[in-house]
Amino acid sequence: MIKAITFDLDDTLWDIWPVVERAERLLHDWLAVHYPRIAARFTPLELRELADEVSLNWPEIAHDRTQLRKEALRLAATRTDYSEFDVESAFAVFFATRNAVEPFAEVRPVLERLTRRYTLASLSNGNADVRLIGLDDLFAFSLNAIEVGAAKPEPRMFELACHRLAVEPKQIVHVGDDPEHDVLGAAQVGFHTVWINRDGRPWPGGRRAEAEISRLTELEEVLMMWEDGVS
Ligand SMILES: [Mg+2]
Repeated sequence: MIKAITFDLDDTLWDIWPVVERAERLLHDWLAVHYPRIAARFTPLELRELADEVSLNWPEIAHDRTQLRKEALRLAATRTDYSEFDVESAFAVFFATRNAVEPFAEVRPVLERLTRRYTLASLSNGNADVRLIGLDDLFAFSLNAIEVGAAKPEPRMFELACHRLAVEPKQIVHVGDDPEHDVLGAAQVGFHTVWINRDGRPWPGGRRAEAEISRLTELEEVLMMWEDGVS
C-alpha cells in the first residue's frame, strides 16, 4: 500500500537550466555595475565553473549549492583585487531569479489530486525554495541537501523523509529525473522508484526504475496499477 510520494524538484517539476542561465546573466549584469572588474574578468559560465572548482577543492560543502555559489563569488572578488565584497547582495540577485521557475502546466493539478490520497514531500539537491515558487501548500515538508547535510544519492535525505513520513520505505514512491541521484538513491533505501524522462533520453545503465514516465500525468496511472497489484 503506497502512503507517500516524494518528488525531486529541478527538472522534475520544472525546467531548471533556462532559469539558472537567466539568473547567472542577471547576476553578471549586477556585478558589471557594482564590481566591474569581476564582470570583465569572468563570464557567467566561468563563474559557474568557479563554483565547480570550489566544489572539488572543498568536498565538505560540495552538497551545498548556495555556499558553493557564494564561495565562488568571494574567490572571483579576491582574484580581481576587491578587498571588500558584499556576497549576500550578489547571491540575493541570483537567488531571486533562480526561484522564478515555472512549473510544468500539469504539476499543480496532478499534485493536488495526489494530495487527496497520499502525503507528498519534496527532496532536492538544489537550493529551490518551494515557498517562493508557490507549491509549499502541496508538500507536507521539503528537504534539501543543505539542511540535510548530504545530497542524493546518499541515503540520508531519503531516510530522513521516511522518518518524517512515519511509514515504511516500501510505502513511499520517489519520482525524479536523475538516474543516479533519484532512481539509484531511492532504490537503495527501499523506496519504489519512478524515472521521469521528459525528452526520451536512453537509460544510462544499471538497475532501472520500476516505472518510467514522460509526463507527471502518467504517474497517476502507474500508481493505480500498483495499487491494483497489476505490476
Ligand atoms: Mg532533478
